[in-house]
Amino acid sequence: MDDVLKYCDEHHDEALAKLVELCRFETVSAQGRAIEETADWVAGELRDLGFDVQVLPKPEGPPAQPVVYAEAKGASAKTVLFYDHYDVQPEEPLDLWKTPPFEPVQKDGKLYGRGTFDNKGNIAARFAAIRAWRETSGELPCGVKFCIEGDEEIGSPFMEEFVERHKELLAADACIWEGGGVTWEGLPMVTLGVKGLLYVQLECQAITHDAHSSYGTVLPNAAWRLVWALSTIKGPDERVMIEGFYDDVRPPTADERAAVQKLPDDAAETFKSYGIERSTTGVSGFEYNIRHLFEPTATIDGLSSGYEGEGPKTVLPAKAMAKVDFRLVNDQDPGDIERKLRAHLDKHGFEDITITTHGGEHPARTPVTDPLVATMMEACREVYGKEPVILPTMAGTGPLYPFVTTLGLPNVDIGIGYPGAAIHAPNENIRLEDFRAGTKAIAAFLGKFGR
Ligand SMILES: [Zn+2]
Repeated sequence: MDDVLKYCDEHHDEALAKLVELCRFETVSAQGRAIEETADWVAGELRDLGFDVQVLPKPEGPPAQPVVYAEAKGASAKTVLFYDHYDVQPEEPLDLWKTPPFEPVQKDGKLYGRGTFDNKGNIAARFAAIRAWRETSGELPCGVKFCIEGDEEIGSPFMEEFVERHKELLAADACIWEGGGVTWEGLPMVTLGVKGLLYVQLECQAITHDAHSSYGTVLPNAAWRLVWALSTIKGPDERVMIEGFYDDVRPPTADERAAVQKLPDDAAETFKSYGIERSTTGVSGFEYNIRHLFEPTATIDGLSSGYEGEGPKTVLPAKAMAKVDFRLVNDQDPGDIERKLRAHLDKHGFEDITITTHGGEHPARTPVTDPLVATMMEACREVYGKEPVILPTMAGTGPLYPFVTTLGLPNVDIGIGYPGAAIHAPNENIRLEDFRAGTKAIAAFLGKFGR
């Protein structure tokens, strides 16, 4: 194993050069840019690493982007499946970037550019770890598969169908997710799950066209109707009031609570960065982390109606629209929550408010006690020389559910990022030393997993 880790150290610059190459592709899935070229590059690299590669379409075709699938045998009969994505978020707003987003620049021990962390940096680190095994011992310590999709950043449409269709191809013993990073204190984070999501657009058309606001005496107002409806969804106490919303919420286990106990307390820092003094419900410390990770949410993402221009315009709006997302936790089901939302609106007299769903994903998480977690902890301890922290689930969402449920795989997530990575934002960056350590952690994990 030592020679593998040494190889990673000595070839750090080559690994970085590959990452720079990958980040030059403007792979913005939301705008369908550079998809084919990037998928080709990724497939070519994997072939070069000795993998059998297939570029597979998603079940529904465009706008769903192809998946790069690859497999290689190893010394042990066990197989690990890596999930990654080669697409990135749009680079806008451009004027806030200090360097061009698709021309990666090294500065002060960091690499700046769109995708340097999410997720191209993790792809490059994983490829570098595989190369280290190939070059030092010839064969991989275990079987390795890659499933690298091209539209994670637009919500991974059809991923559940894709996994169902390619169940046999994707069969493995464990799954490694796209990649997290270290805490501000430099402790490696081992993450075990994701939240789910239901995204809806609520619309009210109260009258055929806008009216003079003097008709406020007798005509229904779409803005008021929508506001009244929204106010039945969540109360000032932050509880969601949709009947049955919390029925399937699985509270954290004793092991999960114990893991959360060891997490850093970033609450004060977060409040400061948003210019507030306390959280909505007053939680801080341990209870803040428990709430952040294990509570579902109802969030108004956007709201519009009537006149929004400068100065007054006395108008009674015919239409009103709200975009709302629900972050879901195990074992809530996005389809079930959508039905409950409909029933809730109907029951409260809002049959006229339509719901258009823009996507749903199930939550998923692996138990803290799974042996895979111990193997990954061991690899991280060895490389970082520090005790890793376990995040039982992230507060964000990803298409993990079919991997955990359809394929039945335990899952862990480690990566090359840090809290200042500016993920999805201008000036996305990684620290070169995190990239080095993250590469070595994957290499160490492969060795331990194959054992
Ligand atoms: Zn992302």
